[in-house]
Amino acid sequence: MKKKIQRSMILVIVTTIVVAYAITIVFIYGKIRTLVINDVENEAYYVASVANLSGESYINKISMNNFNCRVTLIKKDGSVLFDTEEDAGGMENHALRPEFLGAVNDGEGSSIRKSDTLDTDMYYYAIRLDNGDVVRLSKPLNDITKTALEFLPVMFTIAALMVLLAFFSSGHAAASIVAPINKLNLDNPLSNKTYPELNPLLHRIDDSNKEKAALADMRKEFSANVSHELKTPLTSISGYAEIIRDGIVKPSDIPKFSDRIVKESNRLLSLINDIIKLSELDEGKVEAQKENVDLFTLSRDIIERLSEKAQKNDIELSLSGEHCEVYGIRRILDEMIYNITDNAIKYNHKGGHVSIWAGRDMSGVSVVVTDDGIGIPDDQQERIFERFYRVDKSRSKELGGTGLGLSIVKHGAELHHAKVTVQSKVGEGTKMAVNFDIKR
Ligand code: ADP
Repeated sequence: MKKKIQRSMILVIVTTIVVAYAITIVFIYGKIRTLVINDVENEAYYVASVANLSGESYINKISMNNFNCRVTLIKKDGSVLFDTEEDAGGMENHALRPEFLGAVNDGEGSSIRKSDTLDTDMYYYAIRLDNGDVVRLSKPLNDITKTALEFLPVMFTIAALMVLLAFFSSGHAAASIVAPINKLNLDNPLSNKTYPELNPLLHRIDDSNKEKAALADMRKEFSANVSHELKTPLTSISGYAEIIRDGIVKPSDIPKFSDRIVKESNRLLSLINDIIKLSELDEGKVEAQKENVDLFTLSRDIIERLSEKAQKNDIELSLSGEHCEVYGIRRILDEMIYNITDNAIKYNHKGGHVSIWAGRDMSGVSVVVTDDGIGIPDDQQERIFERFYRVDKSRSKELGGTGLGLSIVKHGAELHHAKVTVQSKVGEGTKMAVNFDIKR
């Protein structure tokens, strides 16, 4: 963080200094130019007025030592009479020079152009004397690159000082930025009064805290339920076993009590199996190989496995639809359809019907299990997916239910990005559908 602040501070400083430098140079360049022009013009007026008073011979005596400017005396016809820098005899006629023409016509004239000898712009200013001759003064104008170079060392020193300052103060800046962040109360993130930029983060932490708290509550409730659910069959088992051991039971009743023990043990086993399955789903341990699974064939297998149970309860099982594949975990898909079909058989009347339809529909691939059993009250159709929730607890227990079947269905559906929907009417039956959005 210190490095990042350091880098951005230095970047800002360097950019500011470069921009300030450019603006200053342009400004100073303009100012110096104006000063040079004023200087040349003032000196020209002075030379012209002295020459008008005391005669041109005054000009002949001027040397570069007296003035900052070059002075040239030009005759009416343009021929050069005198120049402070060059031999007048060797100089060409100046009749066409713009400043000369200006002076002859209007009394004064000026021009800026590159000097023949120096590689810089020159300012020429000419004034017509009373006798008609022209006196001209000139001086090199400053050059922008030169001005820039002159100011470079000053700017460079300022930049270096500022960069050093940034370098050393960035540690302090980082520490003062971070200090309030380190003091944040993360247990109650929305109570912090800090940088507004942190608000989205604090809201996210708050959401995550709430989710964690809800999950912790759910886990606590689940453990309490599990203990209770395990204790009940175990208490029965040990009770029956004790009275058999103590010889309290009539020998003719022993098969009945043993049967109770077997039944309760089986219930315990199913419960433990379901808990294991759920915890696997919970912890995301089921990252088994996904494969293309044909839900029609899978449903046919399930019907075969459940046919004995259905026959016992005098329930007619049927399958319709078409072959349809989803990409998923076979074991879990099997578990889901099995649990739903098993419920359709369990919560049914003698002579009832259970049908499975598997195939493609508008929204993808679906498996729909329909029964004409006891139905589920409207207000409980969502709750049946909660762990250990049963509409009729004693009926579920009597039928060997664990109250976890539909929780497994719900988790399995989430794992496959599938949707489970229930339509049910008490006394008429239930239709439970799992829809796989195969576009995913
Ligand atoms: P269980 O082991 O008790 O069957 P589930 O989680 O599979 O547990 O189902 C929860 C409850 O939902 C059941 O106890 C039952 O009351 C109700 N239920 C599920 N499927 C049906 C159905 N097809 N018809 C009527 N009630 C159902």
